[in-house]
Amino acid sequence: MTVLVVGSVAFDTVTTPFGHKEKILGGSATYFAYSCSFFAPVNLVAVVGEDFPPSYRELLEKREINLEGLQVRPGETFHWGGSYKYDMNEAETEFTDLNVFEDFHPDLPPSYRSSEYILLANIDPHLQLEVLEQIENPRLVVGDTMNLWIELKKETVQEVIRKLQILIINDAEARQLTGEVSLKKAAARILKLGPEYVVVKKGEHGALFFSRRETFSAPGLPLETVVDPTGAGDTFAGGFVGYLAKMGEISPSALRQAVIYGSVMASFNVEDFSLDRLKNLQWDDIIRRYQEFKSLTLF
Ligand code: AMP
Repeated sequence: MTVLVVGSVAFDTVTTPFGHKEKILGGSATYFAYSCSFFAPVNLVAVVGEDFPPSYRELLEKREINLEGLQVRPGETFHWGGSYKYDMNEAETEFTDLNVFEDFHPDLPPSYRSSEYILLANIDPHLQLEVLEQIENPRLVVGDTMNLWIELKKETVQEVIRKLQILIINDAEARQLTGEVSLKKAAARILKLGPEYVVVKKGEHGALFFSRRETFSAPGLPLETVVDPTGAGDTFAGGFVGYLAKMGEISPSALRQAVIYGSVMASFNVEDFSLDRLKNLQWDDIIRRYQEFKSLTLF
């Protein structure tokens, strides 16, 4: 089953306690697509400028990522700058240069319109809505967002959430969106808006999965090497949706396993900058780490 993603393809300039990198490949759709491609083929929708290097494009093309929906426009590629202190759970945004995103409108190639699995990655919520209008008969619609959009366009973010089956959000954003300190109450409020499930990511502390009936907690795997957490959330979403698409079912046990596969992919991503760790990842590594997650909480 092919997964459609709309989001950003970006240059990131990132500072962490372990280094500073300029204009490395980033973006919510990039991280999502690369991670998802270990499980299922991906149709990508985004925009870049004419300055987007062929080497970055080739990196994505080497995996099963269809770039027919990646528009190339005159101007510069979206550029995000962020930094992290020793507590790497939250990025501090230093700049957001929207550039070609400023007047971007997603136009889905006809072959994308019947995609069954949709991930609305972090992007202006108006654009997320525009994508949904062009989709014919989706089986699963999952969405993500970020603090910037909750601050600037909360009502549109809520309009998107009403159309989702699953919202993936981090703990700080869940609190910001709902005004609730308790993540349980925050999740209940989000579920009232419409989604059947909500996944609350807690950075290095794992993730919580809520439905109206159950709560599932995935641990954070204690890692020796954490270099750059950028894209961890999108990489999580890639493993999560990719696994559901691969299995072709959205049962309670598949959803729990998907939360662990998402956590596995995110745990690799933070070990290096950009896609540098995922680039060298083998399927065996994924399975081994899945088992580590299992034994971590077996009692
Ligand atoms: P994450 O660390 O998973 O929350 O996502 C980080 C990625 O989001 C980076 O690679 C950025 O390029 C991208 N990003 C940051 N701000 C925005 C924004 N306002 N819209 C779309 N993508 C963004």
